[in-house]
Order: sequence, then structure tokens, then C-alpha cells
Amino acid sequence: MIIAIDGTSASGKTTLARRLAARLGYLYFDTGVMYRALTLAALRQGLSMSDEAALASLAAGITIDVTSPTASDGRPCTVLLNGEDVTWTIRSPEVDDSVSQASIYAGVRSALTLQQRRIGLRGRVVMVGRDIGTVVLPEAELKIFMTASLEERARRRLAELTLLGENVGLAEVERSLAERDRLDSQRTVAPLRAAPDAVVIDTSHLSAEPVLDLALDLVAKRERAAPAQNARDAAGRGERGGVEERE
Ligand code: C5P
Repeated sequence: MIIAIDGTSASGKTTLARRLAARLGYLYFDTGVMYRALTLAALRQGLSMSDEAALASLAAGITIDVTSPTASDGRPCTVLLNGEDVTWTIRSPEVDDSVSQASIYAGVRSALTLQQRRIGLRGRVVMVGRDIGTVVLPEAELKIFMTASLEERARRRLAELTLLGENVGLAEVERSLAERDRLDSQRTVAPLRAAPDAVVIDTSHLSAEPVLDLALDLVAKRERAAPAQNARDAAGRGERGGVEERE
């Protein structure tokens, strides 16, 4: 099964995806780290975030590797940019403030989407991002779209940044999240939006545990629907089963 999890920043996508992948024995893959690594490379080279040609050529030329964790410091995976471990550097407020601008360009997205799709099509994967269910892997059997209030997401992101030793205030974090939401949902190419067959989960008042239970229920439902789906396909009726409903 391919599981696609999309949603706004700090809505709980990573927490759910990590837990779900661990429970199912699937690969966890966060596509956001690729956009972040590209942005870090661009900032280091002093590129302007409005220089589409330079950013697209950078995206085509750099090597971003995502591996299982190489240190026990709470990282969900290790991110290598041209061989350098940038797992924590890509979480800085500087990258936060530029990543959505770098991500609007078709040339940047096509280079990264191609790699993501190749990994996702192997199956047994929980892939996280903004456009997984709509563009990267529209054939995913289960699509979840997560959201939460801006206030709650800012509180969560502030806690993460404080752990990283960053000294920022709640109002600044809220402003940065709102701006990323705006750029991510208003861009022309692969904007942030729920696929028509995605299950929408609002985590404003939910802790991680019930969200995981909900997702595991959905996985079980899809698994039960699959044999019936296969039988229908075999009978040549071409109907889709189980995933049409918006829950
Ligand atoms: O998920 P995360 O907050 O790490 O993503 C950082 C940024 O990368 C997003 O705000 C968005 O601009 C971009 N992104 C994207 N498409 C994805 C994943 C991330 O445009 N599939």
C-alpha cells in the first residue's frame, strides 16, 4: 500500500507518518526535507529566492540523500546534502522563511518530484508533503490531509525550535507559518490542497495517539476493500472501490 499524508505546516503530519510507518513496517519518507535541503544549498550560495533559473539548475545538480537515522538524537531520518549531514541545519528559521518561496517553481518541483515518485512507487511507504496525494503519488491507496488551527501549529513549532536552541517568539513563528501556508496554497504548480478522495483530519484538539488509531482504522478499511476492488477490476467493470468517500 502507498499512504500519502499531506497538510499544512506543523499540523502533525510527521508525527503521524513516523508512527504509522513504524507500526506497519513501511518506509517513512518526508519530502519536505528535500525542499529544505535545496533551500539551504541556495542560501549558502547566496542565490536569490526569486531566481527561478538558478534554483532549478541547483535542484538538478545537487545530491540529496535521505537515509535511516545515523545518530540517536531524536532525528526521524538523516538528510545528506552532497554528502554533508544537514538533518538539523535544514530546520533553522532561515530555511523556514525561504523554503516556500523556493518551492513555487516548476523547474525545482519537477526535479524533486521525479525522485519522490520513484521511491514511492516501490510501495510500503508513508510519504509526507504538500502534493503527495494530488501530484507525486495520486494512485496512493490511502490519502490523509491534516490541518490544525494556526495558534496550535505555532505552539507546536515554537516548542520544536526551542528544543533546537532557537530564540524566537510565538508571534514570529505564527507569522512565518501563515506566510508559508499562503505561498504553499496559492502557488500555481502543485499547490497545497486535499485530494478529492483524501480523509481530512483536524488535529487542533487531538493528541498523537487518537490520530494514529484513526489512521490505523483507515488502513484496515482499505485493506478490507482491496480484495473486493481486485475482484471488480478482474471482472473488467473498472469501478473504484473503498476510497471515494470523503470522511
Ligand atoms: O513539511 P515541511 O514544513 O518540512 O516543508 C517545508 C516546505 O517545503 C513547505 O512549506 C513547502 O513550501 C515545501 N514542500 C512542498 N512540497 C512538498 C513538501 C514540502 O512544496 N511535497
